Amino acid sequence: TSRFVRGPQEGRLTLELVDAAHGLRFELDATLPDGDCALDLDLTIRNTGTAPTCVMAAIPHLTGLGLGSDPAANLGVRLRDVGQSRAPAWSLQGGVYTRDWSMPWNAVYDPATKGTLGMIALDESIRNKILRRWPGGGMEIFYFDKVRLAPGAAASFPTSQLLVTSGDWKVTARRYREWFAATFSLRHPPAWFAEIGSYSGAWIPGPKEVAAAQANQARPVPQATATPAGPITSFADLPRAYLGGRFDLQEWAQYWQGVVTTGHVDAFDHCDGIYEFRSDLGGAAAMRRGVAGVERIGRHLGLYIGAKTVRLDSDFFRGRDPRAAMAMETPDATLRPDAKSIWMCLSDEAWQDHLAQTCGRLLRESGAQYIRLDELGELFETCHNPAHHHASPYDLVPCKLELLRKVRAAMDAVDPDSMLFTEGGVDVMNLHANGSLGIWNAGADIAPLRLAVPSYQGLAYHYGQVDSALQGFAPAGSSACTRQGFVTEHHESIWGVGLERKPTCYPPQADEWTWPPAADLQWDLLRVTFQEAMLACDPTDENPTVPALDARDHDDWAGRLWRSPRYWLLTCGNRAAVKPARALRVRLPDLPTDVAQALEIDTETLQTRPVVIERTADGTFVDTVFGFSAVLLPRPDCPPLVLADPRPLVCRAGQSLEVGLSSWPMPNHTPPHVRIDVPGIEASPRQADLPATAAIQTTKGTVPGHYVLRVTGDCLPLKRWLEVVPASVPQSQSP
Ligand SMILES: [Zn+2]
Repeated sequence: TSRFVRGPQEGRLTLELVDAAHGLRFELDATLPDGDCALDLDLTIRNTGTAPTCVMAAIPHLTGLGLGSDPAANLGVRLRDVGQSRAPAWSLQGGVYTRDWSMPWNAVYDPATKGTLGMIALDESIRNKILRRWPGGGMEIFYFDKVRLAPGAAASFPTSQLLVTSGDWKVTARRYREWFAATFSLRHPPAWFAEIGSYSGAWIPGPKEVAAAQANQARPVPQATATPAGPITSFADLPRAYLGGRFDLQEWAQYWQGVVTTGHVDAFDHCDGIYEFRSDLGGAAAMRRGVAGVERIGRHLGLYIGAKTVRLDSDFFRGRDPRAAMAMETPDATLRPDAKSIWMCLSDEAWQDHLAQTCGRLLRESGAQYIRLDELGELFETCHNPAHHHASPYDLVPCKLELLRKVRAAMDAVDPDSMLFTEGGVDVMNLHANGSLGIWNAGADIAPLRLAVPSYQGLAYHYGQVDSALQGFAPAGSSACTRQGFVTEHHESIWGVGLERKPTCYPPQADEWTWPPAADLQWDLLRVTFQEAMLACDPTDENPTVPALDARDHDDWAGRLWRSPRYWLLTCGNRAAVKPARALRVRLPDLPTDVAQALEIDTETLQTRPVVIERTADGTFVDTVFGFSAVLLPRPDCPPLVLADPRPLVCRAGQSLEVGLSSWPMPNHTPPHVRIDVPGIEASPRQADLPATAAIQTTKGTVPGHYVLRVTGDCLPLKRWLEVVPASVPQSQSP
């Protein structure tokens, strides 16, 4: 039997359903506040029988859904890692939250009618759940843990919110963003992260290369080397490795002593779980000098940790049985006869405490400010190892969060401004971790995890400059194009249809691991200038468009309009940064009326041009002419934008270089007072009122390489790379 009961408060209805045969009573409270588009559903199941029973529940479980007249054209999100949108709505999509699905919400939308349907689990307790969609219009949130009910007992489930409104998936993402930030205490990036424009993961050269370099001390260190480290002879040489490239933050692997004891330099069976600094490069004392030197040139050093891999020949296992430590995904899991290492169970307390102590020790010994726990990307994993005494092999998400909490606490005890990253991204990792690697390409639209959890940061792994500028990531190199992270048939066969494809404008690649040949861009510099907008991560829900482009071209052109309190910023253009044949007229979905002028910056050359803002009955438009642009749209209180000569800054060691600095004329602006720094090199004057000329004075002893020029103060920060070339380079080769 069933009946509706109108609640004592307006907008509340209760459905009672009695299943006499099974002795269960279901109460479903539905609350729809006036003026809202979100319906809250609360389910309680009571055992009215005389025997204990078990229940599982899906709330909501909806079938036969469709938006508009053609449900086949409906689209939906897919929330693996940072997530994507634009997948077919009614296809098999979804999976276990914190494993295949990074946030507890789901949304479908109809581009033709702008109808949208979303569902959110408002679940502070982070219970196990599956979020999925299926053909024919099915969509549910399913709590798959068995709940035991004694006679008379009741089980309640987290509030599910249903949103029926107009827009697209971002309506649900923004609703979740508000709830998530209000419910959990999240980790925000430290101030130094705003200065990070570029990022890379790099390996310390192997013991043989180090020994060869040590035997040949006179050999000069190349300025730019294929392997970023070059032939270093001590950890104290690491600043030279930074000067060889143009990365603000580098994360180093193969720094551990196990590399020396085993001679093994590889991405597999690679770590021993101990992470002592290598003796052949001077140990912890040399690493501390190296980190200090890296900081002196205005860069940052991070350390890689394999969170799971421990080699069987590690001292860690002396007197211990590795089988008692390993993760067992199935009850019959065994150690392979040819295994060189095992994966540790991250839920195991002893390993958690060891990892936390190790992370604290590494920061304390080295002064490094960043650790990334590789091999940690999912929280939902099972472990059946009887030696671990897990209460349930399926309830280990709280244990994984406890691992992150312990690691973070150990890092905080040394340096609260240090950053913790993982390999893959899940929203609740942001309780303790700062972010994860951007591995899967999110496509032309903003990545759902970026929009819903803006405090959670992304560092590019495969992302090129264009996709980084569309997602607010620090890019992994100078190439306009993204290297990997697009769908393959193999991935689509595992994870369902609708993964993002490589843009059709991309040039052909030699193989899947090389970067596609494309223009080199400098978004990594502009990201620092526009850090306020990047950290706020509050783009307009509707993206900018070029009405003149047809649909196919439109997938090759993408734009984002970033909002921040003092300025808006448009990042847009061809996804391979191919220059358009003629100016493109870009329609802005919105713009504050107090934005009166605009400046287009070419992300390739840093050339600028003033742009007229055209406000018409059809909308607001700006023209863009570059391959990929950043267009500053300042509000009246926007700090001045500093302009430097866009030509490459190159200086011979022992000589000085004059750099002209000015500011883009904006009404009501007084000339900005700024600070000029080139960490590692002398710059005078250190403080100036713009316009001014900064004289950068090098000495014959200045180590050749790439240095950072920073202008800060009453302005949007400016960053440029300055290259010092050896004094001995013949005049003819000198730029
Ligand atoms: Zn375990």
